Amino acid sequence: MSAPRAIIIFGPPGSGKTTLAKYLADQFNLVHYDTGTRIEKKLSEVSASSSVELKKEKKLFLHGDILPAKAILNMVMNDLRRISRYGDGVVLSGSPRSEKEAEKLVPFLEKEFGKDRIVFVGLKVSPKISIERNSKRLICSVCGASPIGLPKNSRICPICLGKLERRGLDNPETIKIRLWEYEEKTEPIFRAYRKQGLAFIDLDTTPPPYKIFQAALRKIKKA
Ligand SMILES: [Zn+2]
Repeated sequence: MSAPRAIIIFGPPGSGKTTLAKYLADQFNLVHYDTGTRIEKKLSEVSASSSVELKKEKKLFLHGDILPAKAILNMVMNDLRRISRYGDGVVLSGSPRSEKEAEKLVPFLEKEFGKDRIVFVGLKVSPKISIERNSKRLICSVCGASPIGLPKNSRICPICLGKLERRGLDNPETIKIRLWEYEEKTEPIFRAYRKQGLAFIDLDTTPPPYKIFQAALRKIKKA
């Protein structure tokens, strides 16, 4: 595929979805849409006067659970429709995460971006590395990047020189819940879509990022 319009990246927490998504968005001139970041932003605006529903969503999210599929789906589809109307394509990281979400989202993507211009990218990493990466993960307080392979004790963002901070959500227990959720609810969805004639590639994300990037480009172009 020479010019994908929608790249759907999926993989367990800590498999490097965001880093790869940013790279691919840049390479193919697509918009990076990360569902988790979008939800965090939406929920950070929740206050005492917000609706009961939003407050409940925030509580679930902080506990590491998957939010109600319908709420996520509506938000994601509205955002993607807007991106598509501007003539842009998208790299998705973090959606779909549940069966119900996928049932609606995949046909929507086919219609909005073209079935033959969609590619799914599945990332593989061992649970041990996943937990290790997540508990060490730092996020830039300015540009939101989550750089990997930094020098030890570095607290400076290599992209914008902003301050790096640890993410409140990433304690080992929360990560274990997220890994479990991924295996139980998310991974099986993609197994089903593999059989439906859509383009799929698999990537091992244990090697250094530049090698993963090279492999991703090569495989997408062949997909
Ligand atoms: Zn930064």
